[in-house]
Amino acid sequence: MANSVTGGPEAYESQRSKAWPVRAAWMAAAALLALAIFIVDAFSPFGIAIAVLYVVVVLLANQFANRRGLLLIAAGCMGLAVAGFLVDHGNERVSEATFRCLISLAAIVITTALLVRGQKIREALEESEARYRMFLNVSAVSFWCLDVSRVNEMLREVRAQGVNDLRDYVERNPEFVSKAMEATTIVDVNEKGLEMFGARKRDDLVGRSVRDGWPGKNDIYFRCLETSFRREPGFQAEIRVPTLDGREFDALFCMAAPPEIRARGMALVAHIDISEQVEARTTVARMQADLAHAARLSMLGEFTASIAHEINQPLAAIATNGEAGQRWLARAEPDVGEAQTLMGRIVGDARRAADIIKRIRNMASKQTLARTSQAINPVIDESVMFVRHELHAHDVVIRLDLAPDLPDILMDRVQIQQVLSNLIVNAVQAMLEHGVARPRITITSRMAADQHISVSVADNGPGIMPDDMERLFDSFFTTKSGGMGLGLPISRSIIEAHSGSITVNGQSAGGGACFTVLLPQAATPAIALGRH
Ligand code: ADP
Repeated sequence: MANSVTGGPEAYESQRSKAWPVRAAWMAAAALLALAIFIVDAFSPFGIAIAVLYVVVVLLANQFANRRGLLLIAAGCMGLAVAGFLVDHGNERVSEATFRCLISLAAIVITTALLVRGQKIREALEESEARYRMFLNVSAVSFWCLDVSRVNEMLREVRAQGVNDLRDYVERNPEFVSKAMEATTIVDVNEKGLEMFGARKRDDLVGRSVRDGWPGKNDIYFRCLETSFRREPGFQAEIRVPTLDGREFDALFCMAAPPEIRARGMALVAHIDISEQVEARTTVARMQADLAHAARLSMLGEFTASIAHEINQPLAAIATNGEAGQRWLARAEPDVGEAQTLMGRIVGDARRAADIIKRIRNMASKQTLARTSQAINPVIDESVMFVRHELHAHDVVIRLDLAPDLPDILMDRVQIQQVLSNLIVNAVQAMLEHGVARPRITITSRMAADQHISVSVADNGPGIMPDDMERLFDSFFTTKSGGMGLGLPISRSIIEAHSGSITVNGQSAGGGACFTVLLPQAATPAIALGRH
């Protein structure tokens, strides 16, 4: 297959110029042959159709002449055939020789017509290939053409073993992915591809295995394998790509292997450099998070001030009544009746303080939530995107297993993103602290019971210590030296303000912790009536 794909436009040029000495040799051979045929035809006594051999001259001419040249040479051969006939049989009437001459002429005409047609087709093909190559080379997209015939063979063998879930198979045979990468050859790359990947010459990529051209990208390569295994036509994802000259860039990665391409043992891979867009998006996300943080802080300040203001009065009254009560009871003859009255006032003031706190809390939950009905999966994608630099920095593989067509949730998008990003960052930190060799996070969204939607974030870190389970959501509980212990309690209050719940499973299937958020789907009566 490697031969079916040729190099860039310069490759065509060099092919043509290299062919010159060869073409001269073909020309000489054709001329000599034509002369020999003419001499034998005109001057030998053999009564056979020697002139038919001019067909061979025309065939030789096809090797070096263009269409016009071919027609001229064919006309010349026909002229020589007629001349040979006239020299030998010019004074005869219509005879066998006349028929032989006519047959030779017909053979030359038919051969020439076929060759001209073939040349037309070849020219059209070359032109269309040059056109496509031009499109590919001026495009801002990097294209790789991969030879995946050996990988297809490997996948066939895996399927023949009765394997249906490739992920499960790879988990049991982790060397499979690197072997498949080794077996995947880069057959062709366009100019943009060379530039994007920092290749100085074509050989830096072309002819090499994907493992050389794409170091450390086992995760995305695995998704390509999975796509082929499931016979899907392709997929796309945003990834961070290392280059041969040691840079990294953000790319929109597209893999295409529709059946007709796969049948040829090929796959096409495209990269679009989206570094600028990602940079802009990250800045916006950071600004949004900073803004939300600042808003929360200022709100916290306002609440503190208003709580202090409103609570101050009943607290002062409690203190005054308490002191007065102490005095009534400290008398030589304690006045229990008066003390009781004061105790009653203290209880009343304490209740008032509690009411004020309750009112402020209700007010706060109403003010902070700007909810709209929306799908959860894009919110998960965005949350992952916000922390993608953290994930890349620590080589954490993230797997999204999102159920399609989930009903919408009535939510404050920024707050839910905050919760999910916090769970992901906690998982990364836990795995990092324990030096997990292959850190992995799986985020799953599913339809759950009672018209709820569940989103779980599972890692393969250390899990939660049984002793810590109880206190995990308590304010200021942390096991990290620089931790604040506020992430999980804030997450819990956000989720509860959305009528949902957040729970943790200390040991997930992958061995680590698994946090599950349950949120009610939009338009359930509880939400429609505004339960807060
Ligand atoms: P902080 O991250 O500041 O410590 P959090 O409230 O977010 O505060 O987390 C509280 C504690 O919960 C962490 O210190 C850690 O011990 C534990 N924890 C949270 N997520 C995980 C996880 N995925 N794996 C193990 N422990 C975790």
